[in-house]
Amino acid sequence: QPLVVLVSGMAGSGKSTFVSQLSSHLKKTRKAGYTINLDPAVQYLPFDINIDIRDTVNYKEVMKQYTLGPNGAILTALNLFTTKFDQVLQLVDKRAPELDYIVIDTPGQIEIFTWSASGTIITDTLAATHPTVICYVIDTPRSASPATFMSNMLYACSILYKTKLPFVLVWNKTDIKDHQFAVEWMRDFEAFQAALADDTTYMATLVNSMCMVLDEFYQHLSVVGVSSVTGTGMDALMDALAEARGRYDADYLPELERAL
Ligand code: GDP
Repeated sequence: QPLVVLVSGMAGSGKSTFVSQLSSHLKKTRKAGYTINLDPAVQYLPFDINIDIRDTVNYKEVMKQYTLGPNGAILTALNLFTTKFDQVLQLVDKRAPELDYIVIDTPGQIEIFTWSASGTIITDTLAATHPTVICYVIDTPRSASPATFMSNMLYACSILYKTKLPFVLVWNKTDIKDHQFAVEWMRDFEAFQAALADDTTYMATLVNSMCMVLDEFYQHLSVVGVSSVTGTGMDALMDALAEARGRYDADYLPELERAL
């Protein structure tokens, strides 16, 4: 059974670059990868795509035909694609015996996938048929301030609790800034609060009340630092994916079977 890797993260965090680096790492290590692009509005993708939403729906046409703005058109394009997702699954199933990984790039605007009915249908369908994990890509240099760090963590946390899928936090762009500070903040909340020390009272209060939630959250994920440009950290990523797959088998699957 191939492992489905759903790649999520804020716009600009480096999802597409990460998928590209992951695909070439798979090639290098002689693993069979299969890529799916779910972003109808993306202009250029730096990797070979096996299934591309852009082959099925023309997002510019959707905009015109339904007189929608860009975000509405992306969502509508995703909805149209989802109505044919059974065909995608058939294609994937046919190839599955020879595959090791199925890597899925999601729309640039994170909420379009995470909080839409279509995104939920696609995620749940994949997770019900294949071992599935989420890679949440974070822009490390842009998370260096405690406030951006925390909002990113809260967003990741909301996705974890919504999908309940095994989660890998991918601290990207470590060629610009090392992610050690983030590891430290996740391990030791006092270090994080110390970094916040000269922030406003409102912020400090909010962070203090989030403390317990985030601490619990950190225990449910694995963390790796990578550079999607240089390829640093890809071996650690593969270990984290294997570990996350273990959590799918041990936690997610039994839960799913109980629910059926
Ligand atoms: P997406 O919107 O999340 O798909 O992000 P992209 O993959 O398009 O990347 C956004 C920008 O970040 C691009 O200019 C990339 O070249 C850059 N980028 C992505 N990953 C890295 C990285 O690991 N290191 C550096 N220095 N830049 C990166």
